[in-house]
Amino acid sequence: MSTTQHWIDGAEASEAGARLADVTNPATGRVTGQVALATTDLVNTAVASSVKAFQTWGTTSLAKRTSIMFKFRELLNERKPELAAIITAEHGKVLDDALGEISRGQEVVEVACGAPHLLKGGYTENASTNVDVHSKRQALGPVAIISPFNFPAMVPMWFFPVAIAAGNTVILKPSEKDPSAAIWMAELWKEAGLPDGVFNVVNGDKESVDALLDHPDVQSVSFVGSTPIAQYVYERGTAAGKRVQALGGAKNHMLVLPDADLDLAADSAINAGFGAAGERCMAISAVVAVGDVADELVAKIAERVKKLRTGDGTRGCDMGPLVTSAHRDKVAGYIDAGIASGATLVVDGRPGQGAGQFDADGEGFFVGPTLFDNVTEDMSIYQDEIFGPVLSVVRVDSYDEGLDLINRNKYGNGTAIFTNDGGAARRFEAEVKVGMIGINVPIPVPMAYYSFGGWKASLFGDTHAHGTEGFHFFTRGKVVTTRWADPSHGGINLGFPQND
Ligand code: NAD
Repeated sequence: MSTTQHWIDGAEASEAGARLADVTNPATGRVTGQVALATTDLVNTAVASSVKAFQTWGTTSLAKRTSIMFKFRELLNERKPELAAIITAEHGKVLDDALGEISRGQEVVEVACGAPHLLKGGYTENASTNVDVHSKRQALGPVAIISPFNFPAMVPMWFFPVAIAAGNTVILKPSEKDPSAAIWMAELWKEAGLPDGVFNVVNGDKESVDALLDHPDVQSVSFVGSTPIAQYVYERGTAAGKRVQALGGAKNHMLVLPDADLDLAADSAINAGFGAAGERCMAISAVVAVGDVADELVAKIAERVKKLRTGDGTRGCDMGPLVTSAHRDKVAGYIDAGIASGATLVVDGRPGQGAGQFDADGEGFFVGPTLFDNVTEDMSIYQDEIFGPVLSVVRVDSYDEGLDLINRNKYGNGTAIFTNDGGAARRFEAEVKVGMIGINVPIPVPMAYYSFGGWKASLFGDTHAHGTEGFHFFTRGKVVTTRWADPSHGGINLGFPQND
C-alpha cells in the first residue's frame, strides 16, 4: 500500500513520523493507501518554497507564463483518462463523470491561456493637462487553495490556472479523502515546464488548513467545502489580513411550472439529482412542483429512477458509491428521518430494499437513488444538505409560493426553472436570490469565462471563482498618475490636486 505524500519545490516531500489517514476505494470499501497529514512545520516549508519561487515567477514574462499554460493544457488533454481513473478509484464517481469534471477544469486552463488579455490595464491620455493615468494589476504572491473531496481535479482548477497565469505561486491543500489527483496534477505541471515551487501541494487536515490561514506570507485563501468550514476559514483568514473567497454548501431547487415539458424536467431531475451520487454542490436536491403538475412529474421521475444502475464506477454504471462509509450511513440516516417525518418514500434506494440495481463487488459505500414526495419545509431532508442521492419533491400551489420557498432557504448556490413561458423565466431570473440560475438547464455551472459562485450561506466573501472575478481576486490593482516635466510647469500649491 502506498502513502500519498506532499509536493514541494518540484519533488515529493515527506516528514518522519507523520500522522496518516486511510484512503479507500468507495466502490469496494477497501483501504487502498494512506495519505500523510502535514504538520505546521511542513506547511511552513511549502510556504517558504512558494515565497522563493514568487521572486522569479512574479516577474516572468507573460509570454513565458502562457506558453507553460498552453503546454499544461495539451498534456492534460492528452492524459486525462489517467486522471479520471485516479478520481474514480478514490472518489467513486463513474469514469465518464470523472472525465467530465476534468474537462470543466480544463476550460479554466484554456481561459487562463488568454491571461495577457485579462491582465491588461487601462490608459487615459491627458486626463489633466499633460497628465496621463494608467492602471495595472499585479500578482499577490503565495496563495492557498483548500479544496473538497467531491471534485478533486475541477475545483482546484477553478483557481490554480488563474492564480498561476496571473503570476502567483500556489499551495494546494486537497481533501484528504482523495489526495492523489493533486499530486498527479503537480507532476504534470513539472512536465509542462513550470518552475519548481510555483505549484506546491500539502496534504492534510485541520492542522495544515490552520497553518495556511495563519501564515503571514500566504496572501489569499480560496476555499471550497461545507458551509460551517467555509465560514470558519473566512473568519480566520480575514482576521489574519488575507483576502478570502470561501464557497460553501448548497440546497439547490428546481422549480417546475405547469407549462413545462415534463419529460425534459424529469430527465433533468434525474441527471442533476443523482449524477455523482448527489455529491455535487450544484446537484438538485429539491424539485418544487407547481400546481397539478406534481402527480405526473413524480411518476415520470420514479419510472426513470428505477432504471438507474448503481455500482462500481469502472463498470459503466450510471451512479457510483458515496465517498466513505460514514457518509453512506449519514445519507441512509436521512432516508430514515424522511420516513419518520411523514414524507412519502416513492423509491427506496437503501441496499437491500429491493428498489435499486447494484453492480459491485465487496463492501462498497452504496445508497441507490431515492425519491421522496410530499416533503415539507420543516423536514430535515428538506432543510439540510444531504449530499447524497436523495431527491425530495415539494408541492406548492403557485409560482410565488415556490419562489418564496427558494428565497427563504439559507443557501443560494444554484437553481433552475422549467417552463415554456419566457415571461415567467424572466421574472424568476430577476427575483430569485441565488447566484447561478438555469432556465430549462438543471446544473447551470457557468462557463469558465464567467464566474462561479453562490449567494448567502453558499459563499463567504464577495468574489466568485474563475472568469474575470478570478483574475481580480488573484491580483491587486494600482493606478499610476504621470506628468513628465514640462517647461511651463512649476509653482507651489498645497491645495488638494484638481484637474484642469
Ligand atoms: P469539508 O468542508 O468537510 O472539507 C473541505 C476542506 O476543508 C477539505 O480540504 C478539508 O480537509 C478541510 N477541512 C475539513 N474540516 C476542517 C476543519 N475543521 N478545519 C479546517 N479545515 C477543514 O467539505 P467536503 O465534505 O470535502 O466537501 C463537500 C462540501 O463541499 C459540500 O458541502 C458541498 O456543497 C461543498 N462544495 C461546495 C462547492 C461550491 O462551489 N459552493 C463546490 C464543491 C463542494
